Amino acid sequence: MRKGISVSPGVAVGTAYCIHEIFVDPDTKRLEDNEVTAELANYETARDKAAAELRALHHKVAAQVGPAEAAIFAAHESILRDAAFTNKVRTWVVNDRLTAQAALHRLLDEYTILFAKTNDEYIKERVNDVRDVVIRLSTHLSNIVKPEGTNILSGPVIVVADELLPSQVVTLGGLEVRGIVTQAGSQTSHAAIIARSRGIPAISGMRGILRHVKTGDTIVVDARGGHVLVNPDPEQRSAYLKLEREFFLLKDQLAANRDQPARTQDGIDLELLANINGGIDARAAVAMGASGVGLFRTEYLYLTHPDVPDEEEQYIAYKEVIDASPNRTITIRTLDIGGDKTVPYLGHTHQEANPFMGWRSIRLSFEHPEFFATQLRAVLRAAAHAEQVGSRVRLMFPMITALEEIRKVKSMVNKAAQQLRQEQKPFGSDVKLGMMLEVPAAAISIKDMLPEVDFVSIGSNDLVQYLMAADRDNPKVSHLCQPLAPPVLKVLSHVIKSCDRAGKSLTLCGEMAGQPRAFVLLFAMGLRSFSMSPAFIPSMKELAAHLTLESARQVLRKAMTLRTTAGVKRYMAEQLARIAPNLRMLDVD
Ligand code: PEP
Ligand code: MG
Repeated sequence: MRKGISVSPGVAVGTAYCIHEIFVDPDTKRLEDNEVTAELANYETARDKAAAELRALHHKVAAQVGPAEAAIFAAHESILRDAAFTNKVRTWVVNDRLTAQAALHRLLDEYTILFAKTNDEYIKERVNDVRDVVIRLSTHLSNIVKPEGTNILSGPVIVVADELLPSQVVTLGGLEVRGIVTQAGSQTSHAAIIARSRGIPAISGMRGILRHVKTGDTIVVDARGGHVLVNPDPEQRSAYLKLEREFFLLKDQLAANRDQPARTQDGIDLELLANINGGIDARAAVAMGASGVGLFRTEYLYLTHPDVPDEEEQYIAYKEVIDASPNRTITIRTLDIGGDKTVPYLGHTHQEANPFMGWRSIRLSFEHPEFFATQLRAVLRAAAHAEQVGSRVRLMFPMITALEEIRKVKSMVNKAAQQLRQEQKPFGSDVKLGMMLEVPAAAISIKDMLPEVDFVSIGSNDLVQYLMAADRDNPKVSHLCQPLAPPVLKVLSHVIKSCDRAGKSLTLCGEMAGQPRAFVLLFAMGLRSFSMSPAFIPSMKELAAHLTLESARQVLRKAMTLRTTAGVKRYMAEQLARIAPNLRMLDVD
């Protein structure tokens, strides 16, 4: 039994499918003089095939999923066509007599060493894109068509990888993926995001697991406590198979409630909204019964774009989400780049000592007023389209720290609207403006901020990390970065009460909105609007049906007297088992 970090709840049993790098050992052969030209030609052929494949993937994903999701393949094609990339491979083939495979291997090593020097998680993860391109090229060079093991697999698989690459996610489409285990990764990695959006149990941070498991082994993923079991004995296996059946049954039962309102046992209506990155998630959100979009993270559009998405491209992406969310409110958050997500063309140096506390989010948007104005214009134009089709767009600003920032942002929105008016372009006439509350300073001064905004959305992922001074992506301090920590609960209660008294609309859109233990406490504090990964909506709807305000308040009163995080977590685990025993499978420690 091994322990990692649960990133998506549930229990799964299946056959391990290990994804290793395709070339484990570099090719040590040195080319003869008369082989060089042929090797260069091989490389060109592989490059053409890879480019054609990427274009076909781009086309397919754009048509079936959406342009934002397809953009990653255009980005890969630009890596493939990058002159520096190709020149290095050619030079090593010609000068050092390396095979093209070995040259690619050397290139990947170079990039890996270079990227490893940065503290920037986003840049670190971009090495995966280079690796993805190298693997694709290498596959064509060696005529390997399928990764190891796929042909011997049928039935449910548990994917075990160092980290999932974007192209692997697409090629996994033919397999019945029941669970995901990754050696690297955190809540924000590709694997975690994909697993959550598909409701697949997943565990990350399982260091060294690929050394202990091979394709074909039986493997159990128990995301309740973050455990992985390799080749369980027959008794363990049948116990986990039973749990897995319960999990599937529960998911089916819960999915059936998609058209029911989210209502507590004593008749209080709740709003369950979705956190999305683009069109595909927006469709999943509707399928899961979301009543709107509480957080559209627009940075995905920039992060996957080969260069800067222009106003028209942004407008199309927003319009796609609006069209996928009929008769709903769509809350679009302006670019939240920085911290762990960087975009090189915005002048990030990647050398900030404290990126999460540095030049990120709205601070960066202010320094690029024209770039920011493009996004504001695209959103305002999309809002006009929403009004036409019976939906509404709200505009939300991340990481607001000071009152002046709200005033500044409002004047920029007015200016963008004025410009559009002059150009006689339609724009939303009543776009509500809101702030994300994710900085402790803003939480303390919330009363001064409220008169300036139409609505507030608590970004608890950041609020918790800043309150506890514990990096949300660093497993070494994850025991501190806990949403159920007593000081966090005190601050949340203060913010919820302040918004309630001022009559301001309030949502919480961090991960805790989809966590059953936290959900009970937030409801008792007075929160009525929750925004979460679409896959969590059915279970939170079910949980709501087990709650009454009186009983939840009793639980909250007791929880607020507890002085340690462990105490609150233990107490809430017990309470949850009592309130909604059928949901215990979805509880994550
Ligand atoms: C948050 O901070 O809680 C949030 C929802 O925003 P993000 O996770 O994108 O920083
Ligand atoms: Mg945030």
